[in-house]
Amino acid sequence: MKPIEILNALKVNRPKLGKETGVGLYRLFRLVAMEDILGNGASAISYYAGKKLGLELGLKSIDEFLALCDDLKIGIIKIPEMRDDFIHVDVYECVTCDGMDVVGRTLCSFEGGLIAGSIESITGKKTTAKEVTCIGGFGDETCGFDLTLKD
Ligand SMILES: [Zn+2]
Repeated sequence: MKPIEILNALKVNRPKLGKETGVGLYRLFRLVAMEDILGNGASAISYYAGKKLGLELGLKSIDEFLALCDDLKIGIIKIPEMRDDFIHVDVYECVTCDGMDVVGRTLCSFEGGLIAGSIESITGKKTTAKEVTCIGGFGDETCGFDLTLKD
């Protein structure tokens, strides 16, 4: 089976509806359908999928990463802390979870993986992300990710 290329998937021709869709469709896929089939594994698989995608996007700079997040409307991204071995990324208005009733666990593993993969691609350093705050998970203000970078 031939894989679907990223640029092909992002080509949209919907004359009346355009390229935007409802947040609900994504959430039903990510939070309801995937968890229904994969259970606890949905989180790890979503992280891995996001990480792989982030690596394959071929981003070259933080500005390109921010532009991508803006284009895909993942959320409003702020980076309050950036060092050689540590970056903190805050996602406001997270596509996965903002507005949900609090569920008591982190939800945004796909975003975490995507951010980690993007940063790894940009810096060339092995990067892992841990979601430390989550809007829909715990009622936090942001979905916050601690990124650890290793040479
Ligand atoms: Zn979130």
